[in-house]
Amino acid sequence: MTIHAIQTGSVRIKTAQVQGAGRGLRRRLGVFTDQHWTGWLPTYAWVIDHPEGVIVVDTGQGTHLLDSARSLHPYRRWEVAFRIEPDEEIGPHLRALGIAPRDVRRVVLTHLHIDHDGGLAHFPHSEILVSRGELRTAGGWMGRMRGYLPNRWPSWFDPVALDLATDAYGPFASSRHLTAAGDVVAVATPGHTADHLSVLVEDRGITYVLAGDTSYNERLMRAGHVDGVCADEDMARATLRAIRQLASHRPTVYLPTHDPESAARLSHHTLVDTSWRC
Ligand SMILES: [Zn+2]
Repeated sequence: MTIHAIQTGSVRIKTAQVQGAGRGLRRRLGVFTDQHWTGWLPTYAWVIDHPEGVIVVDTGQGTHLLDSARSLHPYRRWEVAFRIEPDEEIGPHLRALGIAPRDVRRVVLTHLHIDHDGGLAHFPHSEILVSRGELRTAGGWMGRMRGYLPNRWPSWFDPVALDLATDAYGPFASSRHLTAAGDVVAVATPGHTADHLSVLVEDRGITYVLAGDTSYNERLMRAGHVDGVCADEDMARATLRAIRQLASHRPTVYLPTHDPESAARLSHHTLVDTSWRC
């Protein structure tokens, strides 16, 4: 089995989104009042080349996000900026790896934020899995009010609503196997969105956490700092705690979507530094 990191362009957000300040509404409004932008952060999607078939986790950005500056939605218009060329979308990256879109058996989305579902159009032949609650949150006019882009989903988009069973997997309360071998597992990692999930890949004694937006980088996960836009601070904090617990018990490589170090950690199999235990 091989995991590939695919960078689908990059994104800039406010520093108060990366690390939230204060609690509740104050934390969320802080993203709008903050004058400080991050540098350009990568937006990764992941390809698991698995003996049972290729699994893609998240689809990254699409070039349609370049219209965000003209959006009527205040977050998309003022609080985020994207960079992406057509050949940086996930489809061309897959072809460069020798993987045709038809070869992709399954696509799993950690959540439906616009920089995670932006490459869906490349997968008309794949089974697409999204947590049932996330589909509810993102759909329709309410979804658009929340900043999702359900109107940009391909017309054929008919995902399988994923219900995670109440089977604990390590420190995670609910999970579901995505391969018969049991080595690729979706686990509930709520907080950033209420129904956010992560995908764990067990390979040669290491657990790789394809973490979506559980945090924007590893340092924040280790410190237990939640972001400025998360739906539920307490859940987000509990999720970061569960990831630290996982890393305390098994060799773990942590791979959030926007961490500039994620691709290097994947290629060097760099384990989470668990020195918080001291
Ligand atoms: Zn997100």
